[in-house]
Amino acid sequence: MKTLSVIIPCYNEESVIETTYRRVKAVLNSLRLISSQMVFINDGSMDKTMDILSDIAKKDRSVKIINFSRNFGHQAAVTAGIHHCTSDFAIIIDADLQDPPELIPDLLAKQAEEQANVVYCVRKKRTGENKFKLWTAKRFYRTLNKISEVNFPLDTGDFRLIDSQIIEQFKRFKERGKYIRGLISWVGFKQVPFYYEREARFAGETKYPIKRMVSFATTALLYFSKKPLLMAIGLGFFTVIVGIFMALWSIFGKIFGYTHAESGWTSIVTIMIFFGGIQLLTIGVLGQYIGILFDEVKERPEYIVKDFINWK
Ligand code: UDP
Ligand code: MG
Repeated sequence: MKTLSVIIPCYNEESVIETTYRRVKAVLNSLRLISSQMVFINDGSMDKTMDILSDIAKKDRSVKIINFSRNFGHQAAVTAGIHHCTSDFAIIIDADLQDPPELIPDLLAKQAEEQANVVYCVRKKRTGENKFKLWTAKRFYRTLNKISEVNFPLDTGDFRLIDSQIIEQFKRFKERGKYIRGLISWVGFKQVPFYYEREARFAGETKYPIKRMVSFATTALLYFSKKPLLMAIGLGFFTVIVGIFMALWSIFGKIFGYTHAESGWTSIVTIMIFFGGIQLLTIGVLGQYIGILFDEVKERPEYIVKDFINWK
């Protein structure tokens, strides 16, 4: 008999978690020939999420909880779920029911039909999200694809099915800044899309405000591409060319007398600001990569688990 783990990261989801449990449970009960469990990762919720989860876990032994010591972020929570997974398949799904749990049997069917290692869910439509988020997400995935060293499927979140081979490979990743959907594509094997319509959040609000969206996008970009460094070189090259022409212009000007040195103040200030700006910009790009090295070299754990419930 095959086994399945449903990995569900939760952060302040008190208003949905009970419904999520019931909907996922109903789906899992209907599965034949597969034994399943739910793994909730409580990512340092400050509301009643953990109390509700503990009550559920008392009644249902197939519900396992990984309880973090504080909030470590969505990607760390999913990572913990995969790290502790020993099943044949894992399905990663959000706690807010934006990814309908009713699709789980379809994902399993698709896997069996195509003998795939990954079935990733591609959003055909997203309801209940503002235009800004949709637009930035769309631009982000397309830009990332252009400049990164890997080709990622577009409009795909972490909602996906992965098999034991992928799970084992994922456990080997040592980097702490994880962009999970990118890493899974990077692994290779047979990956097939599954198209669905993403629903609106069932209740509660998004835990990805603009600041977190930017930091998520930055991790994805910097961990998967060295192109920003190349762009810095390109910019430097451009300014050197401009500089050479300006130098020639002023030297010949001096010789042939068509420039007046006394009236050169405006041009000097403009040039200083321009080159100063470019220098700061390129140092900034370099600094971002040094920041990553700094974080990675410390080798801190990605998350700290306070307790495991129903685990043994
Ligand atoms: N989440 C988490 N830790 C965080 C932020 C989010 O575990 O620090 C979980 C959250 O509970 C949800 C999933 O990650 O199950 C996706 O978050 P959210 O729905 O807020 O993101 P959105 O769908 O708005 O992009
Ligand atoms: Mg959501």
